[in-house]
Amino acid sequence: MKEKISRLLRSVHLLQFNFLATRVSRLPDSSTMEADKLTLVQSGNVKKWACFKCPGGCGEVINLSLNPKQRPRWQISEDFWLRPTIHPSVHQKNKCGCHFWIKSGKVHWCKDGRPMHSMKD
Ligand SMILES: [Zn+2]
Repeated sequence: MKEKISRLLRSVHLLQFNFLATRVSRLPDSSTMEADKLTLVQSGNVKKWACFKCPGGCGEVINLSLNPKQRPRWQISEDFWLRPTIHPSVHQKNKCGCHFWIKSGKVHWCKDGRPMHSMKD
């Protein structure tokens, strides 16, 4: 429900985001993943994975481990409108090579970290 309100607010330019977080209990099917959805895989109260399509335009799905016992790992939080903030930055080592932060649902590109075919602002 709140997701719908957030999207509505974005459509009238009252809210800005590239990604909105959705909580699920199992890893999503990467073929059906939407470009602006960040799927938060959670079992009970434990956040396990953050999955989303690379904003660099390469089409790859990025799976970030949120498991505190593993390295590398990331931390994620969401604001009232379900906009995710991820720490630290994400750096794809593939051909895409993109390097960015996600803050309050927005992609912030690092210097030289933005590929030519990346998603629009
Ligand atoms: Zn990419």
